[in-house]
Amino acid sequence: MAKPTMPASGGDMQAQWARVRGRLREEFGEAAFRSWLKSMTLAEVDENCVRIGVPTRFLRDWVAAHYADRVRALWNAENAAVTAVDIFVSGGAAQAEAIAPSASAAREKETAVPAEPGEDKEIGAALDPRFTFENFVVGKPNELAHAAARRVAESSVGPGRSVPFNPLFLYGGVGLGKTHLMHAIAWHIRTHDPSRKLIYLSAEKFMYQFIRALRFKDTMAFKGQFRSVDVLMIDDVQFISGKDSTQEEFFHTFNALVDQNRQVIISADKSPSDLEGMEERMRSRLGWGLVADIHPTTYELRLGILQAKAEQQRMQIPIKVLEFLAHKITSNVRELEGALNRIIAHAQLVGRAISIESAQEVLHDLLRANDRRVTIDEIQKRVAEHYNIRLADMHSARRARAVARPRQVAMYLCKQLTPRSLPEIGRKFGGRDHTTVMHAVRKIEELRANDRTLAEDIELLRRMLETRGAI
Ligand code: ADP
Ligand code: MG
Repeated sequence: MAKPTMPASGGDMQAQWARVRGRLREEFGEAAFRSWLKSMTLAEVDENCVRIGVPTRFLRDWVAAHYADRVRALWNAENAAVTAVDIFVSGGAAQAEAIAPSASAAREKETAVPAEPGEDKEIGAALDPRFTFENFVVGKPNELAHAAARRVAESSVGPGRSVPFNPLFLYGGVGLGKTHLMHAIAWHIRTHDPSRKLIYLSAEKFMYQFIRALRFKDTMAFKGQFRSVDVLMIDDVQFISGKDSTQEEFFHTFNALVDQNRQVIISADKSPSDLEGMEERMRSRLGWGLVADIHPTTYELRLGILQAKAEQQRMQIPIKVLEFLAHKITSNVRELEGALNRIIAHAQLVGRAISIESAQEVLHDLLRANDRRVTIDEIQKRVAEHYNIRLADMHSARRARAVARPRQVAMYLCKQLTPRSLPEIGRKFGGRDHTTVMHAVRKIEELRANDRTLAEDIELLRRMLETRGAI
């Protein structure tokens, strides 16, 4: 019953394809369309499967991961016979991927978008249309970084433009929203003042561009491009560490821009002073503006993010399931999102309602990885060690500040890091009442907002507890 492959040149098909493209452009916006979707070509229609070619492997992976569902749905709406879409690499891979170091092409999604003819003035990377301020959920761990990002975005447009802090240096662990915030700044500027010249790119791509410029003896143009921007954003600057000539060039570019009062925004996985392999003068210069760190997520933030994402996808997911995920998947937001998407995809496929059981089933591998779960005993032990008190004081009735405060810190961490209820936690602390635990949690939350040392202690303890086994 195999029908012969239909060449996609049929007038009907091409007309349908044009409409699908039109819809994609409307839905995702011009920038995303140009970056990701424009190079798609309709190759053939094979039975019920539409085959779409893209020029590079990278684009194939990206389009398949982010747009294929929508492309399929739009096709299906145009032509009910179409139920599947296949994205493939149609050869003639663009130069960018051919020259780029292979690791960098695979590692980051913002890696080189192949320049289209006549468009090679675009030296930055594409912006993800989902990474806007509207889609960013604010909570304690990221509120400073978010406020700083907003401030920079708003100050960069309009007649009363200013540069509130230079550079803005955002840092934090993987998957906590650094790239999201940078793209959000860029989107804000682009939509409010398209005439501002803005470049966003990963440090790897900066390096790649620079090395390419060296190779083609084109460094003047390279310097010119970077030094004429109004806003320069370099993501994951830790990758520049150690590479001497690029570091040098980066340093000069950076200085030139800051001296001309152009806004520079940098992200990294560590604070400026902790960037290894970075020259001292560079490290200190990076810390001159505002340094804002994004802390690991809290349960509340994770839950908030899940609720927002479920709503965006217009999915009704029982709150119990969201709470379960927020408790269990504590590593970072990227994993959390991935988990949610898997659950949704699974439910849609098998047509069954989402429950904690189905979530457990779908996510068993992820859950296991996140299940290096911290126990109350361990928390007590670590906290006691940290504050130099006896472990027995975690259970004792002593109320002296020197032991009572560490005990409260331990209770707080138990609430944050374990799925145990307040009464359960109380019981493990010498049979205290759940209201005592609640009071401790509130107290510590209140204190840590103003007490830098306490906040750092907690952060340190948390990292130690969460990464044990991994280090
Ligand atoms: P990083 O650059 O710090 O490694 P990303 O910015 O790529 O992390 O974030 C990883 C994923 O998590 C992205 O899909 C991003 O949209 C999402 N994300 C991170 N923080 C938030 C947040 N506060 N609200 C909504 N989504 C978030
Ligand atoms: Mg990132």
